[in-house]
Amino acid sequence: MIRESLIFEISDPGKPAFALPALDVPEAEGLLDGLAVRSDIPGFPQVSEVEVVRHFTRLSQQNYCVDLGLYPLGSCTMKHNPKVNEKVAGLAGFAQAHPCAPPETVQGCLEVIKSLEDALCEITGLQAFTVQPSAGAQGELVGMMLIHAFLKSRGNPRKIVLIPDSAHGTNPSSAHLCGYKVQEVKSDPTGRIDPDELEKAVTEDVAALMVTNPNTLGVFESDIADIARIVHAKGGLLYMDGANMNALTGIVRPGDMGVDVLHINLHKTFSTPHGGGGPGSGPVGIVKALEPFLPTPVVVRRGEALDLDFERPRSIGRVRAFFGNFLVAVKALAYIRTLGPWGVREIAEISVLNANYIRKSLEGIYDLKYDAPSMHECVFSDKLQKEATGVTNLDIAKRLIDHGYHPPTMSFPLIVQGALMIEPTETESKRDLDGFIEAMKAIDREARESPEILKAAPHHSYVRRLDETAAARNPVVRWEKPKNP
Ligand SMILES: *Cc1c(COP(=O)(O)O)cnc(C)c1O
Repeated sequence: MIRESLIFEISDPGKPAFALPALDVPEAEGLLDGLAVRSDIPGFPQVSEVEVVRHFTRLSQQNYCVDLGLYPLGSCTMKHNPKVNEKVAGLAGFAQAHPCAPPETVQGCLEVIKSLEDALCEITGLQAFTVQPSAGAQGELVGMMLIHAFLKSRGNPRKIVLIPDSAHGTNPSSAHLCGYKVQEVKSDPTGRIDPDELEKAVTEDVAALMVTNPNTLGVFESDIADIARIVHAKGGLLYMDGANMNALTGIVRPGDMGVDVLHINLHKTFSTPHGGGGPGSGPVGIVKALEPFLPTPVVVRRGEALDLDFERPRSIGRVRAFFGNFLVAVKALAYIRTLGPWGVREIAEISVLNANYIRKSLEGIYDLKYDAPSMHECVFSDKLQKEATGVTNLDIAKRLIDHGYHPPTMSFPLIVQGALMIEPTETESKRDLDGFIEAMKAIDREARESPEILKAAPHHSYVRRLDETAAARNPVVRWEKPKNP
């Protein structure tokens, strides 16, 4: 309904030349009670659209992102992810589906979950998956709970979980949270599990070995078949942390290595950019024997249709509201389907090639504690620079910012002093890799010629070196207008 027609008022210069039709807003009065109606004007900043756009554009330019350049964070796989997958996840049928909708009205969404579970079974060689866990760490906990439930059902609950000393910190935490006693397994001089040492550690009280393959040193556990045999011989299970699946997809399958339980990180390997606390997903795959214990509900096929199965008396129960981070699953399926089996294999091949290219190019300039061929990442240390000049991995990382690169993962894995863990991922061209390698070489020269430059780096960023301890202890999380601008 138009309440006021378009009237031209040419004769009166004090009035506007025309009036616009009023909007047809239903009467709001009476719909809200007195408490909800505010009496004051909210204190929004009075800024124009241009000012707002410029403010946020300026902020975004102060940030470093994968869309700007190489982001070599090892163990985190910050790779560029196809933008088309974001589009697919944004389709109304996915993005606006209500999590409480009856199954018959969201068959497409259930099909995505089921198809992704099936694809992950193919890729990993395991028999069933749940996509409920919303991160790798939660996947680990769910995996441990499944192992616990399985062993308990056989009247054989055990107390110990073995974990190599190179493992990600979440591994011991998850095992501990599940009530297990964690026992460390030392890596051998090549950075791998020594089967002889393992044999001594595996007893009838070991519920599982949690192995990361390739491990966090970027080294493939080539004795994995023996490792599986040793653990199984004593009635234990083999858990694999699959955060590094990027190196394996389409080439080898954990299920074929003897792995019983596995988590993967969709936000590392299958097309969701991660970092900044964004949504993740840590699906857990299992062998057939553990299927009755899967979290509920399980997406099942009943005739032509898909349904949610809650009637699973041996289930460990629900571990996450609704279906986990569903849109991350949509992106993962879009990624796997667009690449196909050969594309998925090529991803692994190039990620391994790129990591080895960096390792070979920087070998001798930066120290390599474990000189084994790399998988998808390589771990250097600051040993050579530190001994010669006093420069540390922190200084090197900060100086990389001046050279236009995001620093690599630092000080992890813990068994490498002064670690610089570099994962280029498959998305980088040779030109970009060469640029990064040149920067690392230049930093080594700078360390020898004028170490003070590195000690005070970064010099060209929006903020200089921060007091990270103070920032963690007294975080200022709210922007405040300066008192005397
Ligand atoms: C990232 C990572 C994890 C934990 O995964 P989140 O999704 O961050 O919880 C576990 N293990 C390894 C080796 C990882 O790289």
